Amino acid sequence: MNGRTLTPRRACTFRLETVTPAFLHGAHRPSSGRSAPVEAELRASSFEGLIRYWFRAALADHALLPGECSRKSYSNCGCLPCIEGRLFGSADHGRGLVFRIVDAVRATSQEKKLLLPHKNSSPSPAIPAGTSFGLRIHLALVNQPEEHLRAATAAAWLAFSLGGVGQRSRRGAGSFAIRKIDGDPVGLPVAEGFAGVDDLANHLRTGIEVALRAIRALGSPRPPGAVPEFPMLTPRAARVQVVPLEARENEEKARSEIMCKLRDFKDPVFGLPHLLPAAGKPKVNGRHASPVWIRLVRLKDGQFAAVQTTLRSATATLSGNWTRIEDYLKSSLSSGGKIIDLA
Ligand SMILES: [Zn+2]
Repeated sequence: MNGRTLTPRRACTFRLETVTPAFLHGAHRPSSGRSAPVEAELRASSFEGLIRYWFRAALADHALLPGECSRKSYSNCGCLPCIEGRLFGSADHGRGLVFRIVDAVRATSQEKKLLLPHKNSSPSPAIPAGTSFGLRIHLALVNQPEEHLRAATAAAWLAFSLGGVGQRSRRGAGSFAIRKIDGDPVGLPVAEGFAGVDDLANHLRTGIEVALRAIRALGSPRPPGAVPEFPMLTPRAARVQVVPLEARENEEKARSEIMCKLRDFKDPVFGLPHLLPAAGKPKVNGRHASPVWIRLVRLKDGQFAAVQTTLRSATATLSGNWTRIEDYLKSSLSSGGKIIDLA
């Protein structure tokens, strides 16, 4: 140890474990683009992208819109792109945070897991369930306020508690358990396990509240508009619920169960497949991601639960019938689920 003081904090490390396989491809895909990936790899950039997404959703209506940018003072501007840029970088400015994968038991894997377990098909390289590693976040610049690390840590907590990484991550793949947060500057909850759905829901309720407070400290509230332009973790646009699954022990069964339940509600509103043209909106480039994130959690007794977070936005409602999503959420709650109220 070099005796350097740790207050104010400059870094923290999430100790994570994969609960379902993470289909993280990209870097090792053959250049033809059409060939199947040969390897999955834990890459900090995948996590950074996910954390940035949840940071934006959390700050949402606590920042000025891009059109309200002051244009002059990047370092003081209260608009969303400027605040986000000060942490994650922008076209003109460097990043204020550095993300690194540390202490990975295995950072790459050629082991194949089923992308579509409900069809017993599409084996693809994945970082398998049960893989432990760390994600270190540290401030890149000397003069950067600790608030930036606090906000990034909170956004990472949201990312791992509500989302996942890699292919099919909105359908239960690439889910993580947070085992520990070394040097947590925020005081986010970390649990050794959950006795049941109620326990998990209480944990999420507390954590979301603490995380939103840490992120929104970077901005200030703005009056809400109509349908949000982008995904926002706010009561008017988002809903979080936890539902118990029947599957135990076997993560493939849990992912299959989710897909079978969704099948009854099939509609383009759940996400357009790649390359299917979106009517009248060529800018959307023929696809939109599902507005429903499904993260899988293994409870203490081995039973699985699904954390379902729905973020309604203008792009999410471009195609399809939104009531199909509401029907699905209502139906999956009927098995003893809990809604988590947002602040
Ligand atoms: Zn600005």
